[in-house]
Amino acid sequence: MTNEIFLHFSRCAKAGFLFANNLNLIDLNYQGQKFLAKEFHEVAFKIIKKYKKSADIEIIRNKEVKTSGGETAIADIIVKSGNSNSLIALINSTTEPDWLQIQNLAYTFYVFGQAQIKFDSAFICFVSKEYVNGSELTYELLRIKDYTKKVKNLQSRVQSVINKSKEKIRNNVLPDNKMEYCCIKPSICPFKKSCEKNAFPEESSILELKDISFYRKLQLYRAGITSYKIGLPMDFVLSGKNDKQVEYTLTNKIIFDKKEIKHWLNKQMAKKFVWFLDMETDTPVMPISNSKRPFAKYPFIYTLQYSDLATKSKGSFQKIMPTALTALVLKDFIENFITQVNLNLFAPIVVGNINKVKEALRNASIVLPNSEKEINEVIKRLVDIKVLFTDQLYYNPKFKGSTYLKDIIPIICPEISYSELSIKSGLQAQYEYRKLISEKADVKEKVITELKAYSFMDVKSLSSTFQFLLKESGLNM
Ligand code: SF4
Repeated sequence: MTNEIFLHFSRCAKAGFLFANNLNLIDLNYQGQKFLAKEFHEVAFKIIKKYKKSADIEIIRNKEVKTSGGETAIADIIVKSGNSNSLIALINSTTEPDWLQIQNLAYTFYVFGQAQIKFDSAFICFVSKEYVNGSELTYELLRIKDYTKKVKNLQSRVQSVINKSKEKIRNNVLPDNKMEYCCIKPSICPFKKSCEKNAFPEESSILELKDISFYRKLQLYRAGITSYKIGLPMDFVLSGKNDKQVEYTLTNKIIFDKKEIKHWLNKQMAKKFVWFLDMETDTPVMPISNSKRPFAKYPFIYTLQYSDLATKSKGSFQKIMPTALTALVLKDFIENFITQVNLNLFAPIVVGNINKVKEALRNASIVLPNSEKEINEVIKRLVDIKVLFTDQLYYNPKFKGSTYLKDIIPIICPEISYSELSIKSGLQAQYEYRKLISEKADVKEKVITELKAYSFMDVKSLSSTFQFLLKESGLNM
């Protein structure tokens, strides 16, 4: 049993079972972990030597063991000093160890103990928040925290989780776990969508209601109200939008506010030129400049498509950052983007998720203060097509309450499909992008092609949605 499977079992038996049966997700997780791994490993190795200060220490790296029961674990670093053994886990992609990483340490501690390699202490080594992505990692920028007490206390739990999970895998029966708070804490479970499909009915699921916390919906679900068709409790007050959603769905009513939508479309076409933009982002744990916090969004690929109404011509531009995100690389990327989008300075830029694009551009302007003015001018031109769906100017019960283009597009433009693409979501695009930092040239080339295809499909969805709305409103581009 590998660490990954254990970690998922320690959160939920069903997640562990699904994880054990889902190699794609193992790959995704693995790629995330590999981010900056080599660079971090080299520095951490030197630092631990310095940290221990003793002359007679021996350091063993990447030691793997397998127990007679079949559990495997890898210790990133073992520090031997006389008769004492310390286990050190290197967590390169965090600036603060979380619950899963402590569980991971406890699991490694346990498996090595079973393989007769006992540790008397256990530490996690991670990167300080001050680290600037792409810069040199130094001693001062790493932190080592002692988790020995916590890990020792967790040992009986580890044993029990392993026993239970092995039994589940052996019986090959999907455990009957219910949706719980752990589905979204400490992070959103990768199986949440498929679990929801099973736990909640397809039609009018209580989960479709927006602006209500997951916890509240879970409470209703536990009380037997899995669908709003069943009827909500008397004291349950729905917001305006939820109220309309329930009404439209129960009466199977499609809303298309032609006047308002037409007005919106005409406004975008007033300059006789429209840009459509997809921008994919990464959220590196290492801030790329001193002034930024970790996990800030930065762009790494954009696809721009235009419609020139005067000449009836169309075209597109694309750019990807093929390397690790640094201030210099970002500068080149943003300058290229601004040059392209300013080919028509006054045209609106239609996007599908304005908050994501705005955040990425604002973060870029903090790293590149000399471009701040131009970036702000671009931000002012952004227009969110999603507003037509969130404001319920167009509402179709088949959208199931979703306002995401990916959920809407199969209903309005069924000929557009992501099924043939290797990358199908923004999250997956982010993981794949990280391969550009650590993988070999042939893998990189493949990933670049896949990322471009995905971003192009996103922009095609956007322009096709625009076209669909024009047609339904009786307008032409
Ligand atoms: S979504 Fe929740 S119930 Fe489903 S596998 Fe994940 S943690 Fe378990």
